Amino acid sequence: MQWLKGVGQKRAAALSTAGIDTIEDLIEFFPRRFIDARTVINLGDAQQYLWQSVTVAGTVIGVQQFTYRRPFRTQITIEDKTGVLHLVFFVYSEWIAKQYKVGDGVVAIGAIGFFRGEPQIVHPEFLEKTSESQELAEGKLLPIYPNPQAFKDGYISQVQLRKMFEQVLLSDDFIRVTTEVLPQELISKYQLMERPTAFREMHLPGSPETLSQARRRLIYEELFFLQLRFAVERHRIQATAGRGIGFDVSSLFSVLQSPKPRKPSIISQVIESLPFSLTNAQQRVLSEIATDMSKDHRRIPMHRLVQGDVGSGKTIVALLVMLAAVDNGYQCALMAPTEVLAKQHYLSMSALLKETPIELSLLVGGQPKKLRAEILSELSEGRTNIVIGTHALLEENVIFDKLGMIVADEQHKFGVAQRKILIEKYRDAPPDVLIMTATPIPRTLALTLYQDLDVSTIDELPSGRKQISTTIVMPSAQRGLFTHIREVVKRGEQVYIVYPQLEKSETRDVKTATKAYEVFSEKIFPDLHVGFIHGKLKSADKQAVMSAFRDKQIDILVATSVIEVGIDVANATLMVIGNAERFGLAQLHQLRGRVGRGGKASECILVPSEKLELKPDESVTSEDIESRTASLERLKILERTTDGFEIAKADLALRGPGDFLGTQQSGAVKLKLADIVRDQQILEQAAKDSAQLLEQDPQLRNKEHSATRQELLRLYHQRESFLEVG
Ligand code: ADP
Ligand code: MG
Repeated sequence: MQWLKGVGQKRAAALSTAGIDTIEDLIEFFPRRFIDARTVINLGDAQQYLWQSVTVAGTVIGVQQFTYRRPFRTQITIEDKTGVLHLVFFVYSEWIAKQYKVGDGVVAIGAIGFFRGEPQIVHPEFLEKTSESQELAEGKLLPIYPNPQAFKDGYISQVQLRKMFEQVLLSDDFIRVTTEVLPQELISKYQLMERPTAFREMHLPGSPETLSQARRRLIYEELFFLQLRFAVERHRIQATAGRGIGFDVSSLFSVLQSPKPRKPSIISQVIESLPFSLTNAQQRVLSEIATDMSKDHRRIPMHRLVQGDVGSGKTIVALLVMLAAVDNGYQCALMAPTEVLAKQHYLSMSALLKETPIELSLLVGGQPKKLRAEILSELSEGRTNIVIGTHALLEENVIFDKLGMIVADEQHKFGVAQRKILIEKYRDAPPDVLIMTATPIPRTLALTLYQDLDVSTIDELPSGRKQISTTIVMPSAQRGLFTHIREVVKRGEQVYIVYPQLEKSETRDVKTATKAYEVFSEKIFPDLHVGFIHGKLKSADKQAVMSAFRDKQIDILVATSVIEVGIDVANATLMVIGNAERFGLAQLHQLRGRVGRGGKASECILVPSEKLELKPDESVTSEDIESRTASLERLKILERTTDGFEIAKADLALRGPGDFLGTQQSGAVKLKLADIVRDQQILEQAAKDSAQLLEQDPQLRNKEHSATRQELLRLYHQRESFLEVG
């Protein structure tokens, strides 16, 4: 980016570190907010805005540190023509003191309060130096860009960014990269702002109204291309996939009508042996699946998502569905997210099928070569009816005689990529796919994202489940927590202490948990039985620890998230989760579902990491404070509700949908402006429009669609062949 004035090698490198290498990257680097000059108040009028959030601008006239009494305090005093105001931080901060000097212009946002008769903003939610009080005074909207570390290191300030954009927006390159990419009919239909104007408005807005039109246009564009991509992929799948298998599902239907059907089957035998009866929701979902599988209904292979909260009983549903497929002479594969869970499924299903002729096998890593070869050959000869394993079951060397059904347990990420593999591998008779998840996606969202994915919901828990009460305990209050853990153990109940898995580094994760294990077993609970389980343990060792816990030889089990799904120990009634704020709400909810399984009152305690507690002598920026408060607010959602659906919605709104959009192979889609929760209506519209466009012009060959076609290929780094259906 060195062609820009004021951008030398160093700044270009900083831009590049932040992911900005081309002019396209730069113009898509959108401001994170705007300061609207009309909301800047006169400091002299502060009294009128008591407790309201306002924008203030002024010149620094003093920076003071108060350390003679706790809490320590750092204070920046600003003035404008009408009065003064203090920006107050309850910390001792060298950083703030260095950053702000008398004479600097600053802008801040926050709630007005008063102390000893003078107006103040405590911990402003936004604070920045600016030399543009002039422009603010003229009533312009001032863009505030994200400020990644690379910019701080490369001395790229907000002012410089704004200067850069002023240059860029006048360049010929800008015209070149902002040519229209949406089909003309859609632009007219929605009266969208012209593309170059929209980009210009995003960086140098004329007014709040034009800015909002610009946003609307660019959000629509972003979602349109996202949906167009999904539509193309779906198109390919539908064109390639043969007709699905038509199953005879009468035995499944007849048990749904009456648990003791006139014509007994393996399914009715298994149902009769259960110590419980199916909930209404389980029955409803079973019949939805059966309808999909049935030969009278056949179009393309089943692709159905079953969502149900932790403990809603998805496993038995999966088993009955597989039995229906086996009944038709087909084999089934059940894929669990981890080997531990695969084994657990294998054990519990073996028990349920003990009295039946069903052949079940387990295929996981670490099995002796000979055994593995035997399992594989039984599978390829069709002697095995159901095989349980991990996603390794999809690998080349696993050959089935007649695969009819794949169940992916707890893998909502089982996506387009996996499906493509299946469809290519089993061209003649593609198997049905059932995905199970405790992480519900709002229905409309699921439908828009994967239009051909059907969704069933088990929206009822078996009766007799106890509520799990959840509490946040700050690290500084942990002493009381340790006493509480002792009490629980004294009652004869068991405890999990979990350090959930970080996606990025399992190793670091294991390290944190290992350290915790040492502290707990040696220092805090030397007299109790403390066990440790993590993902890096050998399979046999994991199994051994789990059975010791099940047999109550372990009081307290320290774990990484290997216990996240599926492990069932009824006597465990307390779960403590460390570093809690670093994990998704849905994941935490899933974790706490491990307790409360045995009808005893159970609880979950969330302990955020230490860095979330403000220390009096710590130097912090207002952004730090902002993010800490937000993290705690997020955890409080778990204190308030145990409804997995509510939680998933909140999580989605807070963290964005990254998880749902990513297909493992093509890499996650990052949205720049759009928010698929907030912009759901636009998303649905864009889904319809893109599907319609493909219907008219499946490969975007028409001349008037050529810019759209180019943009699609550019955005997703695809070749021409992406659009060919063969
Ligand atoms: P999840 O949906 O989280 O996978 P599971 O299938 O593991 O839940 O079921 C949790 C527990 O509830 C298991 O012990 C299972 O046997 C039991 N269960 C399943 N269905 C019912 C039911 N209808 N009534 C009572 N208990 C049930
Ligand atoms: Mg499960």
